[in-house]
Amino acid sequence: MSELSTDRTTPPRIQLLDDDLISQIAAGEVVERPASVVRELVDNALDAGATDITVRLQEGGVRLISVEDNGHGIPSDQLALALRRHATSKIRDLHDLQSVLTMGFRGEALAATASVSELSLISQTAHQPHAWRLDARTGELQAAARERGTTVEVRELFFNTPARRQFLKTPATEMAHCLEAIKRHALVRPDVGFALWHDGKQLLHWRAAPALPLPDSDVALPTRRWADALGRRFIEQGVPLLAERGPVKMHGWLVRPEHAGARADTQYLYINQRYVRDKTLAHAVKSAYADVLHGQRQPAWLLHLHIDPQRVDVNVHPSKVEVRLRESQALHQALWHAITPVLAALQPGASSALGLPPTHTSPPSPLAPRPQEPEPWVRSTPQEALRSASQLYASSQPRPEVRAPRGAFSTAPAPAPAPAPVPTPAPAQAPAPALEGLAASDQPLGQALGQLGGLYVLAQNEQGLVIVDMHAAHERVLFEQYRAQWADKTIPAQRLLVPLIVEVTPLEHATALAHRDLLLGLALDVTDTADDDSALVPRLTVHSVPQAIAQRAPEALLRALLSDLNDHGSDQAVQQARDALLSTLACHSAIRAHRTLNLAQMNALLRDMERTERSGYCNHGRPTWRTLSIAELDAFFLRGQ
Ligand code: ADP
Ligand code: MG
Repeated sequence: MSELSTDRTTPPRIQLLDDDLISQIAAGEVVERPASVVRELVDNALDAGATDITVRLQEGGVRLISVEDNGHGIPSDQLALALRRHATSKIRDLHDLQSVLTMGFRGEALAATASVSELSLISQTAHQPHAWRLDARTGELQAAARERGTTVEVRELFFNTPARRQFLKTPATEMAHCLEAIKRHALVRPDVGFALWHDGKQLLHWRAAPALPLPDSDVALPTRRWADALGRRFIEQGVPLLAERGPVKMHGWLVRPEHAGARADTQYLYINQRYVRDKTLAHAVKSAYADVLHGQRQPAWLLHLHIDPQRVDVNVHPSKVEVRLRESQALHQALWHAITPVLAALQPGASSALGLPPTHTSPPSPLAPRPQEPEPWVRSTPQEALRSASQLYASSQPRPEVRAPRGAFSTAPAPAPAPAPVPTPAPAQAPAPALEGLAASDQPLGQALGQLGGLYVLAQNEQGLVIVDMHAAHERVLFEQYRAQWADKTIPAQRLLVPLIVEVTPLEHATALAHRDLLLGLALDVTDTADDDSALVPRLTVHSVPQAIAQRAPEALLRALLSDLNDHGSDQAVQQARDALLSTLACHSAIRAHRTLNLAQMNALLRDMERTERSGYCNHGRPTWRTLSIAELDAFFLRGQ
């Protein structure tokens, strides 16, 4: 430091940095916080073929990080080499680098970590009489005792780089980051058991879990591990994704849009078993959900992509969470096309088995991973979801699937223990069709029975009672119709015999004239009102309106559309503006609450819904209908018990 001259006339001397300093500089990129060490050490354990990994932390990992595995170990004569910079057993030449399949390959994690901590390696292979321990600081090698495998102990992280240490958060926060690092590994390696201890307490123990095979397929999904790591709700509230498109094979789990949350903290993307962050691909998932999920809500999902390793450059980032993808646009397309139909065919329903008494859960499935450990969510729900998924793949034309939403009414209070005998109801005047007479296949939403509270249409189908939110459902039907009509400008318009003059703000006025064509595509023919007063109070003349709203005040629709256009700004992609506009149009055209419908109108709505993609959700991602099955009613009324 002192030799560095500040004199601007003499050039400073160029020198090679010493080894320790190089490692500390590298550590700056690789080791950001305890969780980065955990990630690197678990990477190494997995690369060594471990099937059981135990992580122990003290004070959020700052005092101690120890990672113990049962992998192949490191021979005693190579322990010192493992700690050297650019020393690796994983690649030998450029060719290996271009198709790397191991987690590590840069040979710098141990060296970098050792340069900012007190590190020791204890390892035993299958061929040594006993284990050996190497102290990185002193270089001392001692005999030690342990089974085959390796333990890496990292103490006093950043003790010699106080600036780094100051950036660390509380032990609880650092611990949470370490847990997240383990989770990212665990989600992709269900065949490996993981345990985590913090300050002497065991926080998690996820056993190696077999994957559930998909019926009639050689694909298996590790839903049990996913449920362990992300919570059972993640599995209960989602459906599987399995697809192969062009260069990419994928499998994963998509949580239903109605369960989207405020935070994007359950979105996991893996490429060839490696957790990665990639804006383009995340955007593909986001836009696939955007059709059923408006606004700021964040869906939860887990996606594994399998791509030819030659197409992925993992050597972009020292911590390898960012990768460079060849043809990332093609991958974007592939992802979007794979996810969209799965979401489009979703019907709200099997939202949750939570809170259901055990007697209501499905019978044990032959696919149960561990029959001796009853865990209904792992047994029944994924299987049910898998069944629905296999149907999805079977037909490219998604068709609404009617299922009993188990647990839909599980929040209802428990029925009284001894219900009084119910008098036989008088026969209804117009008897509803017998349950067994209903053709389930072509009319899955069944036959309308009546209206409830001016908001809901009640119908009966094969399963039982269907409850439809009529405004929301109609809104979706219209939205999809409008979307189809938009392209060829065939949204039905009604010309007004007497054009309507609307007073607007100067901003609305300018917006309307700037987007005249766009509005015309929405069946709204709007021109400037060129009269003497218009200089003072801007006005617009409306010559035609969408047929569906002809009977209502078109002003409200016009103002809403102009406000949408402003929100999106003129330079925004028309695509985005389009969906917002069509959504507004659909909302304004849909049946209003408290409008009385006759049975024929209700049935027409049900048939429209059956024909409409995504009809299970309104444009804002809320469900539009549910089923209350006979079985649920029986259970509720304690029939047959
Ligand atoms: P990289 O993983 O990129 O090769 P590291 O610095 O993480 O670099 O590790 C250096 C080498 O030490 C590895 O290539 C591997 O041979 C060996 N090694 C590290 N950790 C383990 C482990 N847990 N079990 C067996 N070998 C290990
Ligand atoms: Mg490594």
